[in-house]
Formats: sequence, structure tokens, C-alpha cells
Amino acid sequence: MSDRCKENVVIIGGGPAGLGAALMLAKRGWEDIKVIEQRPTADYYEPDKSFSYQIDGRGQKLTDLLEITPKLADLSVPNTDFYFTIIQKNGTRKTIKLPIADSKRKTAYWLPRASFVQLLYQEIQEHWQGSIKVLFNTKCIEINQKKEDLEVIIQYHSQDRFTFTPTLLIGCDGLNSIVRQTLYQLEGESNSFEMQKFPSPSSGLRYKVITLPPQFPLSEQEDDLSQSTMAYGIRSAFKDPKKAISLGLLPFKNPNQPRTANIITYPDHQIWQLKTQAEVEDFFQQAFPQLPLEKILSPEEIARFTSSKGGKFPIPQYCEGLYKIWGKPENNQGTAVLLLGDAFHCFPPDIGQGVNSALEDIYIFQEILAKTEDNLSQALTRYQKLRQPDIKALIRLVQISYPWQYNQDIWQKRLWSINFFLRFALNRLFPFLFSPHSFLLIQNHELSYSEILAKSNRTTQLLSMLGGLVILTVIWQII
Ligand SMILES: Cc1cc2nc3c(=O)[nH]c(=O)nc-3n(C[C@H](O)[C@H](O)[C@H](O)COP(=O)(O)OP(=O)(O)OC[C@H]3O[C@@H](n4cnc5c(N)ncnc54)[C@H](O)[C@@H]3O)c2cc1C
Repeated sequence: MSDRCKENVVIIGGGPAGLGAALMLAKRGWEDIKVIEQRPTADYYEPDKSFSYQIDGRGQKLTDLLEITPKLADLSVPNTDFYFTIIQKNGTRKTIKLPIADSKRKTAYWLPRASFVQLLYQEIQEHWQGSIKVLFNTKCIEINQKKEDLEVIIQYHSQDRFTFTPTLLIGCDGLNSIVRQTLYQLEGESNSFEMQKFPSPSSGLRYKVITLPPQFPLSEQEDDLSQSTMAYGIRSAFKDPKKAISLGLLPFKNPNQPRTANIITYPDHQIWQLKTQAEVEDFFQQAFPQLPLEKILSPEEIARFTSSKGGKFPIPQYCEGLYKIWGKPENNQGTAVLLLGDAFHCFPPDIGQGVNSALEDIYIFQEILAKTEDNLSQALTRYQKLRQPDIKALIRLVQISYPWQYNQDIWQKRLWSINFFLRFALNRLFPFLFSPHSFLLIQNHELSYSEILAKSNRTTQLLSMLGGLVILTVIWQII
């Protein structure tokens, strides 16, 4: 592909995938890259999207390539310093350091989503303004086919409209991707852009976020304050599963940043029936007698929490099609379309791979661009062939790895723990025969998702055979 064609890119979505893809292309010498983002700023605070990311070795393949891992580390709490305090209903506390099961694992970094997106945006502002323009407050509202070109209609501030005709259009616009939906419509009967959905015990769970002040007080004692770098699990006084809740707080590096507590429950939990501010306030007072709530929850935050609808964990899903080409984009005729990140694979956050798999998508695509010398037709075909089986494996891993972690069912959680520790122990004793649980294997960024699934399945087969042998021996003894 001639350098003249390494230009005219439109990326829909300025989340981690969109900004990461723009930086990767700019680093490869691509120019005239426009990122269309409907939010007003990169670090725009959306309370119900204010979760934290753990950028692990897989995600760091891209941050290493972009040479921003040291900046990422500066903004984050490393997993090697991950301390977790459980606060019971009577106020008793226990702090544990999360064990590092695999000492060879690359240090992973915890930081709020907004900080990570802002880090990528700052990198663009500092080094790539000549090749990347991020257009905030702009929304892609329509994509139309005109012969071999795609016309992308953008609306600015819900008013002015303008049209782009890109050589490369990248859909980084998340679960409800307009780019993927357009491909689905243009494909007619084909279902390669239809999301295939797979059940999981954690999908359908609802979540809401309550914002707490930085270093909020943990008791009436004056200097008893929470630490920003500490994770907390604050248990409620309620026993009834439809009332019991837990506030989950992940660590933040910045001591002045407000803390966000996730509440994750079944849809029929009582918290979703609370309609007024007074009801919410009363619920929290009864739930958390161990906390000085009057110093923690402002009336404004209670009002915001009451009116927020929260979110829902998605069903694990992916689509088979990752790209589509009209014309010959490498000759500057027609448009190539590519999907990255949540736009073609999406799932609940059980194994912390949402952002890491999105960053790995981009890294793998850049490796293929390098091998094909940026020939889009060749690169896109190879990319789909290589990445698609991995994503299929990832979706299966999401289903089996740790879907019971949200206290939905205590027995299922216990069964999961038995399975986890059995595999852990067998792997320590017979590493050549048994692999650790897939939840641990995922942390090894050198293994692809397909390799992890294959290892996990092999251990499952061995365990089933052993189980069968034990049953047969018992029957034989009885007879
Ligand atoms: C509650 C919850 C907790 C999570 N926790 C984790 C976690 O701990 N670890 C983890 O790895 N992942 C987690 N995830 C998943 C993670 O957020 C996603 O996998 C990741 O954000 C994917 O990045 P993305 O850029 O592909 O999509 P998104 O982050 O969804 O970004 C899409 C962007 O596109 C913009 N956009 C969409 N449509 C348009 C349009 N028409 N025009 C212009 N802009 C548009 C959106 O405003 C958004 O900025 C969690 C998800 C949820 C819901």
C-alpha cells in the first residue's frame, strides 16, 4: 500500500479501543485520523461508568508499543500492592493482601476508566495532533453506502451535520455499535455481523455506583479515614438475599479522587424498588450501621443515585465478522470497515478482560499491518482469521471462569472454590498433567485465549476421567 493511502481514517468511539487504535495507526505513519466521540471530554465523569480497569500484561502489549506503560504505572495502583479490607456489619475489619499466584506474571495496573482514557487522549495531544483529531460532542448518526464508498454522517452538538467518506472506517463504538449494525443491515441475509449470545450466571445482574468522598471516614473517630489505594468490601447488616448488599471499592492512586462503590445485585433486589430519596437514605442507614453515613453521603449524591437507572451486565456475545471491504481501499477506491473491542465482543466484567482484549485486538491488528506492509485487504482478512477463534475462546472462558463471584448463590460460589483449589493443588503436584483454573491462566498474557481454553478443557477431561474412575471403584467395592 502506498503511503498516500495510509490516510483518511474515521474511528467511531473515543473509548479505550478508539483512542488506542488511533495512536497505533499514527505510530505506523497513518494520517488524517478522525475520532468521533459523543461524550464532551475524554475524562468526562459518568458515575455509572466509573469502574476501574486492571491493565494486565495482555493490555500492556499495546501500552508498551505506544511507550506509555511508565505513565500508566504512575497513575495506577499495581496489583503487587493490592490490599483488600472487608468491613463487617459490626464494624470489624480484616485486611488481606491479594496473593500473587504466578510470580512470573507481569505487574498489572489498576486505574479508573476515565484516567486511562485521559492518558490515551493526552498522548494524542502531546505527540500526534498532526495526524489525529478527536472530535468530542460529535455522534455518528448514520452510515450509508454510496456505490463502493461508505458515507459517515456525523452530528455535532446535536445540531450541525457533516459527512465523511473514509478509506478506513473503524467501529470502536461499544456494545450497541452503529458500525456493526450498519454492516449487519448491508450484509442482507448474512448473519456474520449478528451478535451470537451465550448464557452466563453473571449476565443480567444489575449494577449501580454510589460516589463517596475521597478518604471518607470509616467511623466516628476523627482520624479513622479510608485509604485511596486500599480496596474495600463493606458488608450490609441485612441477611435476606433480596436486601443484603455489599459496597465494592477498587483502589485509586490519586488520594483526592472521589471513591466509587459498586453495588451489584439480581434485578429483583429491593434496591431497585427504592423510588424516593428518603427511601434510599433509610435503606443505606439500615444497611450500613457501621459507617458514619451522614458524613459520607451528601443529599445531592443520594438524589443522583436515586434517579440513576444503573446498568446491566451484558450477555457474553461476539460476532463472526470482523471486517468488510467495498472496492479497493488500498488504491484509494472504496471503504474498508473494521470492528475492534466491545463493538464485536462484549461480556460481563468477571475476568477483567474487556479492556485488555480490546487493547490486544489493536496490538494484533498492528502486527498484521506490519507483516502486510499496511495492505488493508490482506491485513483485514488475516486479522479475522487469526483473531476470531481467540474471541470465540474468550467468550467461553467468560462463561466458565468466575461468573459466581457476585454472591448470587453461596453454594455455586463454594463449588467454584473447590474446583479452583483442586486444580491449583493438582497443578502444583503434577504440572505436566493438570493446568491451574482458567481464572489464573488468563493472567498469563503469553498464552492466547484459545490456548488457555484448550488447557482448561484438557484438565476438565482428565478430572472427569478421574471422577469416573473413582465412581466405578466405589461401585465395584460395594458389589
Ligand atoms: C460495570 C462494568 C464494569 C466493567 N469493568 C471492567 C473491568 O474491571 N475490566 C475490564 O477490562 N473491563 C471492564 N468492563 C468492560 C470494559 O468497560 C469494556 O470492555 C471496554 O470499555 C471496551 O472498550 P471499547 O473502547 O471497545 O468500548 P467502550 O468503552 O464502550 O467505548 C465506546 C465509546 O464509543 C462512544 N460511542 C458509542 N456510540 C457512538 C456514536 N454513535 N458516536 C460517537 N461515539 C459513540 C461511547 O461514548 C464510548 O466512549 C466493564 C464494563 C462494565 C459495564
